[in-house]
Amino acid sequence: MNHDPDPHYDVAIIGAGPCGATAARYAAEDASTILIDKKKTIGAPVQCAGFLPKYDELEELMPDAGLPDTFHYPASCVYTETKYQRFIAPTGDSKEFDVDANVLDRKRFDQYLAERAVSAGADLRIGTRVTAIDGKSIEIAGMWGNHTITADVIIGADGPSSIVAKAAGLPGIRAGTDDDPMGVAHAIAYDMTGVEIDNEAIEMHFGRNFVPGGYAWIVPHGGTSANVGMGIRKAMCEPGVTFRDYLHRFIKEHPIASEKLKGGKVTSVIAGMVPVGGAPAKTCAGNIMIAGDAAGHLIATNGGGIPTAMVAGKIAGETAADVVNGRCAIEEYESRWRSEIGMQITTSVYVRKLMDGMMRSDSMMTAVMNMISPAHMKALQRGQLPDAVKRLLKGMQRRMG
Ligand SMILES: Cc1cc2nc3c(=O)[nH]c(=O)nc-3n(C[C@H](O)[C@H](O)[C@H](O)COP(=O)(O)OP(=O)(O)OC[C@H]3O[C@@H](n4cnc5c(N)ncnc54)[C@H](O)[C@@H]3O)c2cc1C
Repeated sequence: MNHDPDPHYDVAIIGAGPCGATAARYAAEDASTILIDKKKTIGAPVQCAGFLPKYDELEELMPDAGLPDTFHYPASCVYTETKYQRFIAPTGDSKEFDVDANVLDRKRFDQYLAERAVSAGADLRIGTRVTAIDGKSIEIAGMWGNHTITADVIIGADGPSSIVAKAAGLPGIRAGTDDDPMGVAHAIAYDMTGVEIDNEAIEMHFGRNFVPGGYAWIVPHGGTSANVGMGIRKAMCEPGVTFRDYLHRFIKEHPIASEKLKGGKVTSVIAGMVPVGGAPAKTCAGNIMIAGDAAGHLIATNGGGIPTAMVAGKIAGETAADVVNGRCAIEEYESRWRSEIGMQITTSVYVRKLMDGMMRSDSMMTAVMNMISPAHMKALQRGQLPDAVKRLLKGMQRRMG
């Protein structure tokens, strides 16, 4: 049973998603740690399709990162396994490449990660919202009462609308920035059952009539179930057409997808924001660090954020313990995460911006997809930019003016 929280912790972590729970698992080894989440049930409601490449793929995705041991999770967290990632161009032409991946039951996965944090010694407070932060002082309110606690180091792992980033005066990522107004995507998805899909492949469909400025996905959940959704950029939507309208249009009218989805019934509605603008120039200030979606730690070309959030969480948790034990200054966090995953995040934003231009025209998008090899597509998905693809995209960009 949860007791009143201690008045003081070495480390307080706001947000018990993949980032915060991993941070807590590492910080708690060497520092008194509290992990706080406003959700009454960890992981619910789910705001994710659950696609996570397997360990070997993650090593190739983030070759300079020390992967957290939380990437070793039990089979009970996995709905199904997939082998391929398939891209479908606006014309219907498709290309695919191998990716060994698990599709997670995100609710179960997040709960497993929280269990790991508690096993490492972290205090856990669910149903508790952080309402204000002032220096070391944290106001919390919720089902266990209202308290003020203090912490020497605070980690904001509280997602794209981070209150912690705001409290620290760090630039928010919610609205994008003036020079990157497309830096936030809106995601909407349905869990569906009764669909007839390829259970070995996740599919990514492109075409501006169906998904303006993004892609629609079909992620198998095993059997006749799947998560069907899309990430869209508002600036590219037709006036008066809602995100839900686009998703319904895709499910009912897309020439390929509608054939697979037409018998399906919706069992759950999922929505959220995806920060695809990259990380701000500063991710720590005073006694605060931000990590995961809160810090734009995400691969912008596909909106996948679980791997980078967990690596950033490990780095933040370890750095917090180092700081309170006098082993380093908090600024060390900045250089640590940038050396481990900074390149992938920055490159993926650069590629995303190039692709944004192509997505304005279906014929251009189809031409690009026809010209890029499956191996190079996989590299782009990993936040890499092979020279040949860079030349191609730059050339196309010049042609578009
Ligand atoms: C529809 C959708 C589908 C996606 N699909 C995929 C996918 O298939 N694969 C993939 O890799 N990524 C996917 N993503 C992205 C992925 O979900 C995120 O990148 C990932 O969850 C980031 O983890 P995080 O721990 O940083 O943040 P989150 O998982 O968002 O966790 C933040 C936590 O902070 C808590 N919180 C927020 N504010 C407060 C507060 N004031 N007080 C207390 N607690 C607070 C929230 O309740 C939440 O639990 C998807 C995103 C969306 C929206």
